[in-house]
Amino acid sequence: MSRANEPAEDRAIYIDVALPLPLRRTFTYRVPADLGSDPSAGKRVEVPFGSRKLTGYVVRVFSELEPETAIDPRSIRSALALIDDESLFTDEIFELTRWTANYYAASWGEILKAALPAGMNLTSERSFSITSEGRQKLLDSINSKPLAVQLLRWLEEHGETSKRSLETEFGPKRVGPAVRSLEKDGFIAGTDKRSVREVRPKLRKAVRIMPAVGDLNGKGLTNAQQAVLTALVNAGGQLDFANLLELTQVSGSAVSTLAKRGRVEVFVREERRDPFGDGERSQPQKLNLTDEQNAALDEIGKAIESGEFHSFLLHGVTGSGKTEVYIRAMRQSLRRGRSALMLVPEIALTPVFSRRLRGAFGDEVAILHSKLSRGERFDEWRRLRSGEARIAIGTRSAVFAPLENLGLVIVDEEHDSSYRQNESPFYNARDVAVMRANMAAGVVVLGSATPSLESFHNTRSGKYRYLRMPTRIEDRPLAEAELVDMRDVFRASGKDVLLSPRLIEGIRETHAKGEQSIILLNRRGFSAFVLCRSCGESLRCRNCDITLTYHKRDGKISCHYCGYNVPTPKVCPFCESEFLYFIGDGTEKLELTLEKLFPDLRIARIDRDTMNRKGQMQKTLFAFDRGEIDMLAGTQMIAKGHDFHNVTLVGVISVDTGLGLPDFRSAERTFQLLTQVAGRAGRGAKPGKVLIQTYYPEHYALQHARRQDYEGFANEELGFRQRMAYPPFVVLASIFVKHPNENVARQNAELVKAGLVEFNVEKKCLILGPAPASISRLKGEFRYQILVKSRGRKALRTTLEMGLDAAERAGCDMRSVFAEIDPINLM
Ligand code: ADP
Ligand code: ZN
Ligand code: ZN
Repeated sequence: MSRANEPAEDRAIYIDVALPLPLRRTFTYRVPADLGSDPSAGKRVEVPFGSRKLTGYVVRVFSELEPETAIDPRSIRSALALIDDESLFTDEIFELTRWTANYYAASWGEILKAALPAGMNLTSERSFSITSEGRQKLLDSINSKPLAVQLLRWLEEHGETSKRSLETEFGPKRVGPAVRSLEKDGFIAGTDKRSVREVRPKLRKAVRIMPAVGDLNGKGLTNAQQAVLTALVNAGGQLDFANLLELTQVSGSAVSTLAKRGRVEVFVREERRDPFGDGERSQPQKLNLTDEQNAALDEIGKAIESGEFHSFLLHGVTGSGKTEVYIRAMRQSLRRGRSALMLVPEIALTPVFSRRLRGAFGDEVAILHSKLSRGERFDEWRRLRSGEARIAIGTRSAVFAPLENLGLVIVDEEHDSSYRQNESPFYNARDVAVMRANMAAGVVVLGSATPSLESFHNTRSGKYRYLRMPTRIEDRPLAEAELVDMRDVFRASGKDVLLSPRLIEGIRETHAKGEQSIILLNRRGFSAFVLCRSCGESLRCRNCDITLTYHKRDGKISCHYCGYNVPTPKVCPFCESEFLYFIGDGTEKLELTLEKLFPDLRIARIDRDTMNRKGQMQKTLFAFDRGEIDMLAGTQMIAKGHDFHNVTLVGVISVDTGLGLPDFRSAERTFQLLTQVAGRAGRGAKPGKVLIQTYYPEHYALQHARRQDYEGFANEELGFRQRMAYPPFVVLASIFVKHPNENVARQNAELVKAGLVEFNVEKKCLILGPAPASISRLKGEFRYQILVKSRGRKALRTTLEMGLDAAERAGCDMRSVFAEIDPINLM
């Protein structure tokens, strides 16, 4: 039935739009007659929002407003333009994002945005120019200096300027509030421009040979033309235009003449930006599985064959051969005609592993992680969307990879905190992965040598099936670990030293045998902080409640949280004393000390300061693997996943700072870090040794780590969690309220608290705070924290959602409120 003749009023259609802003609701818009293609869920749409123009996602299309929503139809604004002809999401991914937003009380629009590769997300950029009122204001306040006046002066001098440039000029945190109030007062005017940074397929001009008609032996061809045809034949029929010219050293006119004669065709082809770069791949290995591997694979295989949802925790010690199990399970899923997804914590850290997968699956693997260029990510995403690649490997956001008919999801190192997004939208990819498998009636395997206590607990409650691989390949023993009591070292030498005699001796012995070592110190920089011996002050960041770290090489002290840095002062800025004291050694000092002690060793340092160049990490790890480097020293980046066969010694300089952090997971994290780094030793034929330096050798996390006794640790830690009512025995939410003005932060926090208390139905939640967060000031903002605990997830979510809504109604500025369910970072 055509409705084209009816008046526009009657065929009014509405859409609900999810916007990529930290808002837990959607917005209704009217669909004008000239919107372009038909609106449907999953397409991007441009809409007015306040005085701005935003790109959001259509999540619902409907023709009648529900009476109870009490929206006045006349107040509904019209959408501006539909961007896509087709939905960007499969139905399954669309539903998964809806579930995720719901589960974490997060913004659906932000989750939808996170599910797309960066290049697909159009951003509008706002820019500002000064108005005549603004000019008047500037004249009136000619000599004053507040930020508002500085901004006006800037716009007067530079003309229209994007918000981003203003932020670079004046600091990101300060510009937002200032331009908002200037705009409200009419002193400046803002406009939105759709950013043109959208990624497109990469196209290349190419030449292909056409089936020859007539003069087959090259009669009537010039030498140049003949060379072109020969080159094309040798290359299998086609070549890039540029390559062809370079290869044959002929000019383009030879090619165009051939094209005119119908002998070749010039066309445009899409070129894949290949994240595997050099295309290197390791040879697929032919291994006979161990009994333990077989047993695990058997169970997983049966589940895959069943075609139903099953969930497993694969608890295999380091070096037990989990990767081989993953690869075979993925093969089996493919054989069943279904796709496979594997999540890894940080794939750029495990280049060896990527090559292995490429070796096993060739072009069927697409890879998705943050170190790829936007173009690479876009191409890999499209290869998945089109079905060309049926295996996706990637980090956190790859959980939304557009695979159809998903049969298997693997989450490697499932305990790793990088699965948790640290900023809005907060979600944990591991848990979303379990849900995704569930929705797809597939199998999910969470794997780790040190499962998170949440997952381990789930095996006891029957939610996950427990698969155990307790022995290393070829019965290699786990490295023997020893705690070195640094209190004894201090008593013996009368001072704090970085390296104990025991560790120095261990390093010497190891390298005398031609073996390799890894030394971990989980703190970068030269010294953790700078203290004045005269007045006792320490040098702190001006934006954060954090001491500044001394970096010797660039002669600066810098903040590891906000990046603020200044040249290292020669005298104390408070009392001008010269007695500045550098305390708490970092990796830079470690490297220097090691180089002095062992001048013959080739030592490479691995931390964020040395590995920020693209490809640097890969290069160093490959060189270490080939034995061109003797020792790696660095932060936890060296602890993860690597499989080096000649490493027989792992030294841990100090774990005590990690244990002292005010977070209920600090013992679990320390245990995991020690077990993981210990797992790097003794993976080849030679047995390994681990030396852990500590001032608290009695600590249960260290004692269990020394014995590599996961169950012992888990039981003790779970007992503690149960007594103290921490996850996994309760569901936790953490709410940070942040603001540059301390009073505003506290007042908003009080409003949130009041809202939560009001909707704490049947007192099912325990609401703690607000209290200043353990880092009470960060990046120029004061931080207050509220914790909510509950035995029931549903009760927690209801209280949270209704409580936050109530706070908003009471006047709380929701832009300062960050609520997280299942938080990982409590500081
Ligand atoms: P994990 O991930 O459990 O730490 P890996 O999968 O990295 O362990 O395996 C450790 C080492 O053992 C790797 O070098 C791998 O190639 C090898 N390996 C795995 N399975 C077998 C097997 N069945 N036989 C021989 N070597 C194996
Ligand atoms: Zn001083
Ligand atoms: Zn700072």
